[in-house]
Amino acid sequence: MKIVDIKTAVVEGNFDWTFVRVYTDEGITGIGESFCAPGLTSIIRDLKPLLVGEDPRNIDKLFRKMQLHTAVAGTVGGIGNNAISGVETALWDILGKSLNAPVYRLLGGQFRSRIRVYADCHAGEALSSYGPALTPRKTSWSAGPDKKAPIGPDDYASHARQMMARGFTALKFDIPELDLYPEGEFNRCLSTRNLDRLLSIVRAAREAVGPDFDLAFDAHWQFNVNDGMKLAFACEPYNLLWLEDPIPPENVDALATLTRATRTPICSGENLSLRHGFRQLIEKQAVNIVSPDFQKAGGVLEGRRIADLADTYYMAVAPHNIGSPIGTIASAHIAAAIPNFLALEFHASDVPFWEDLAAGCQKPIVQQGYIQLSESPGLGVDLNEEVARRYAKPGEPFFD
Ligand code: MG
Repeated sequence: MKIVDIKTAVVEGNFDWTFVRVYTDEGITGIGESFCAPGLTSIIRDLKPLLVGEDPRNIDKLFRKMQLHTAVAGTVGGIGNNAISGVETALWDILGKSLNAPVYRLLGGQFRSRIRVYADCHAGEALSSYGPALTPRKTSWSAGPDKKAPIGPDDYASHARQMMARGFTALKFDIPELDLYPEGEFNRCLSTRNLDRLLSIVRAAREAVGPDFDLAFDAHWQFNVNDGMKLAFACEPYNLLWLEDPIPPENVDALATLTRATRTPICSGENLSLRHGFRQLIEKQAVNIVSPDFQKAGGVLEGRRIADLADTYYMAVAPHNIGSPIGTIASAHIAAAIPNFLALEFHASDVPFWEDLAAGCQKPIVQQGYIQLSESPGLGVDLNEEVARRYAKPGEPFFD
């Protein structure tokens, strides 16, 4: 079997959902998804000459070939890994189809067939959509940036109740990025007044879901160590599933200092790539939970390897995911095959056409807070191109 072509398409979801399709000379095709980034489809097209003529089933060799050829462009970290992740995932889809086996089986088999997902509830506000540099935009189905309403504890509480009613067993909210900073948005300081405001939100969400429900908050790298620690200490009575990214993850020692000081579990990892990106975070036990995004961290096999590395430190994995059904189900296959899985993010519960983008799989995809994986070969899901074309990003190729 030989690869004959690689094509891309981009759909304007709440983020740019970027699809990679790999074509073979035997008529089997594979689909994958890459985490959005500026210039991403151009990188994927540049990878194509490395792969055409190769056997798509030699996945690890082709992964390393793409790594080697993009190393000078910075793929120890960086958006080259986003491109490679989508291509690699499409190769697993091809392998599974060629062997008539689901991807999770090829990864060592299932620890579970139902994958628990947690709903990301944003900051309790209305739906929005972002371009690849996270600039807010108006689409045919979402309000533009000017429509964002101010939000408070009651909005968090009512959103939490709505999502519980939909059957989710775990939720995550953003710590809002309001006028938090006394000296401007880059100083990472949290005033006592704003700490109190944030706690009123955490308290409202906790009271809405009750004491036993799994509830996480994401601080999006906003604070310094001292103020991140203050927030984590103050969250301790609310028994969070985790507090995500109170500070950035790049300085592992700083993160370890914060994590060791608090009983609130700390989670990080969505912006890291490859085993090498996670190694120190895990070896120094700088977090309690890692959150790799498999559409960015290196794809299916590298995702498995990151999870295995975490497991050697008895650390749980809660995969980050902002993808379409393709990326979400690909992540679910990895989640099925790793022992230390906690919960998979679902970031599009309010995107009206998310489910319609999927073809060839059981629906609803997310049912009562779980994804049930099937016995279908490969990923067991394809893209509904008719729907995808309706929301395609202007100016981007659509599988042509
Ligand atoms: Mg996050």
